[in-house]
Amino acid sequence: MDYELTPEQSEIQRLSRDFARREIEPAQVQMDADHEFPYELWKKWSDLGMAGMLIPEEHGGSGLDPVTYILALEEVARVSNTFALIWQVHVLVANIYIKFGSDELKDQYLPAYASGEKLGAFGLTEPDAGSDAAGMRTKAVREGSDWIINGTKTFISNAGTDISDGLVLMASTGERPNGKKAFSSFSIPQDAPGFKLGQSWDKMAWFGMDNRELVFEDCRVADKRLMGSEGSGLSQALDGLNLGRIAFGAIAAGLIQACLDESLKYAKERVQFGKSISSYQLIQAKLADMATYAEATRQFTLYAANLHAKGRPCHKEASMVKLFGTRHATQATLDAFQIHGGYGFMQEYKVNRFFREGKILEIGEGTNEIQQLFIARELGC
Ligand SMILES: Cc1cc2nc3c(=O)[nH]c(=O)nc-3n(C[C@H](O)[C@H](O)[C@H](O)COP(=O)(O)OP(=O)(O)OC[C@H]3O[C@@H](n4cnc5c(N)ncnc54)[C@H](O)[C@@H]3O)c2cc1C
Repeated sequence: MDYELTPEQSEIQRLSRDFARREIEPAQVQMDADHEFPYELWKKWSDLGMAGMLIPEEHGGSGLDPVTYILALEEVARVSNTFALIWQVHVLVANIYIKFGSDELKDQYLPAYASGEKLGAFGLTEPDAGSDAAGMRTKAVREGSDWIINGTKTFISNAGTDISDGLVLMASTGERPNGKKAFSSFSIPQDAPGFKLGQSWDKMAWFGMDNRELVFEDCRVADKRLMGSEGSGLSQALDGLNLGRIAFGAIAAGLIQACLDESLKYAKERVQFGKSISSYQLIQAKLADMATYAEATRQFTLYAANLHAKGRPCHKEASMVKLFGTRHATQATLDAFQIHGGYGFMQEYKVNRFFREGKILEIGEGTNEIQQLFIARELGC
């Protein structure tokens, strides 16, 4: 497959890299200090057309392709996994509206998502249903021309900020004709009666991102808030999660590259036994692994993004990219910590944050074990 970048893709990649260094880097320091959502940064990023990168121009977006998005996302993640994840969730939700929203919902949400005035959130996970999404207890029941929703979601990103506007919610809606459980997705407005923000989580990293519980107690929404057809919720989620998993590949590539950048610089400067530690082969092996896995993850992610952009099947590749990239990202954060010795334990060194950020990439967007199950299924197991 030919992945030579178009002039426009190269330009967006360069713009993202410059913006990340100039604007995201200081905002990351601020997020680590105050644990606040980076509103100013989000506005600046949105003003560049990035919040609406994949939203068609007729809905106020930039109308760009998934490959350009993946290139920009890696640049962001290289500087801040937190901001990369905030953006990734927003893009995922915008995509659900693009593909499955009615014209009315598109008009209501997409221009505001494109301008960054509103932030997208997606609610699937529940306290007792994570990997086993089909075990969810949140139920939506028809009552006249409305739906009544009861249940609790947890860990949900982006739902509790000042610019959040509800979420796309997944709920069970009875049974399909074949007797299997049916799941449907709903666009829930922030002011829906019976929808409440629950407690926010105190996390080990991603401090500027809002993650919280969401409670639905006889929450009432109109029938027109159903996304797509009744019972098509899980297939919609799967569609969105393919791009989400490819995005996790880009975030992993950014994190591995960041580990390499910091470790190489430090290893060249740090002198022990009269020589810089970069001259020792055991250190070199770690640096060589990081460089190899950064490049392999980047190229594999671009391959999967190209498949996705061309509308070709990429379910297996999306899972592989997520599994491969995030596994090596965790290892890279451990190696970067090791190369920094005791300084890696200190908050002022970036690798300390990388270490805290790496592991969760193996869990979010479907755990790596679940990716292995998907891949095995594609192999015919
Ligand atoms: C910071 C953060 C942000 C998040 N944001 C969102 C969000 O915006 N929206 C949303 O819906 N969710 C979100 N999530 C939830 C995330 O997708 C889930 O945490 C993830 O899917 C795993 O679910 P769980 O945590 O309940 O783990 P569990 O499903 O309980 O898994 C526990 C362990 O068991 C393993 N396991 C489970 N089943 C199997 C099996 N069949 N075979 C082998 N191993 C298995 C898992 O791989 C894992 O290692 C977020 C989570 C975090 C931590």
